[in-house]
Amino acid sequence: MKTKEIISKVDSYVMNTYDRFPVAVKNGKGSWVWDYDGNSYLDFVTGIAVNNLGHSHPEILKAIDKQSKELLQISNLFYIPGQAELAELLVKNSFADKVFFCNSGAEANEGAIKLARRWGRENGDRYKIVSAKGSFHGRTMGALSATNPKYQKGFKPMLSGFKSVAYGKLGALEKALDDRRVCAVIIEPIQGENGVKFPPNGYLKGVRDICNKKNVLLILDEIQVGLGRTGRLFAYENYGIEPDIMTLAKALGGGIPCGAFLSRDEVAQYLVPGTHGTTLGGNPLAMSTGAAVIKTIIKEGLLDNTVSMGNYFLDGLKRIEAQYKKFVKGSRGKGLILGIEFKTGEIANEVVSQSVKKGLLTILTEQTVMRILPPLNASRKEIDLALKIIRESLDEVGNA
Ligand code: PLP
Repeated sequence: MKTKEIISKVDSYVMNTYDRFPVAVKNGKGSWVWDYDGNSYLDFVTGIAVNNLGHSHPEILKAIDKQSKELLQISNLFYIPGQAELAELLVKNSFADKVFFCNSGAEANEGAIKLARRWGRENGDRYKIVSAKGSFHGRTMGALSATNPKYQKGFKPMLSGFKSVAYGKLGALEKALDDRRVCAVIIEPIQGENGVKFPPNGYLKGVRDICNKKNVLLILDEIQVGLGRTGRLFAYENYGIEPDIMTLAKALGGGIPCGAFLSRDEVAQYLVPGTHGTTLGGNPLAMSTGAAVIKTIIKEGLLDNTVSMGNYFLDGLKRIEAQYKKFVKGSRGKGLILGIEFKTGEIANEVVSQSVKKGLLTILTEQTVMRILPPLNASRKEIDLALKIIRESLDEVGNA
């Protein structure tokens, strides 16, 4: 099939829930993908922070090959050795003692909310969850109840017991936690969907202190920014804090659906047989690719590459910001999650669309921000090319 035919069939038979780029990708290798008409693209979307090792990484392919010949799925009523390996890797490299495996980010947050409520009911009969305005935690009803109201439109009523307060404002959070029914705060260390927004200095440390003071659990949603994206294995390491519960997904399965929530034993102990479960979560295939992802990030020194390439990319964006002041409002980044904010939605839309035409894939978020998520093994040469395409796209806007 050629791109035109694929687009026509998808539009005919698949529910219309995405604003898609007119591109159908056939295959990928490293930072590159090729469409059905033979065009190549530098993929700095990476499945929205999924393909942290790039496409077709040999270690992922090896894990899939080996595991698919042994066993794809078995019920969680049996012991699964891949869970032992991936859980040990996660526990030994994080604050946590225990892991629960599921299939997606929304599901990981649902599980985290259930765990927090179970803990809360046993510790003062508390159940309320406080989130930050502008958050994105997923599309299922629990996760959606903690998410930016713009995604809730048409789906009300949300679950009861959810409240949101301004992101970055400690006073508002402290006041919300005066309510003795609150059991947990859920927050993204960096708001990815909300236009790549970074926490103000000292904010996350302040959130941790307030949660400690009020004896409330802190859930960090690291679904987008965990697993090396910021140059540390987990984003919380950048801010000198630890959560009580952390959620992961996206990059965790290396392209195979996989999510997880993690916590210390004091909290995890409240989930006992019969309280939570999943059929496909923690399946052998996802566990084997998950272990390959973490071992490769560590073995190939990808955290260091993320820091140095992230700094290099951000320097380039800052130069673009200076050169194209008329169009660019600002740029920001930490490791390899970067954003360039344009003065209007029209400019942003035009730059992202022009970039696709010139062979660079990025995502438009919050109307005015180009979100850039390269693989953690991206090279300087690839970043130079991305910067060149962004400049050329801005030139087209200037000439229009
Ligand atoms: N949490 C964050 C921070 C996310 O960025 C996302 C997805 O974009 C989710 C949760 C939901 O993950 P999923 O799409 O796997 O359900």
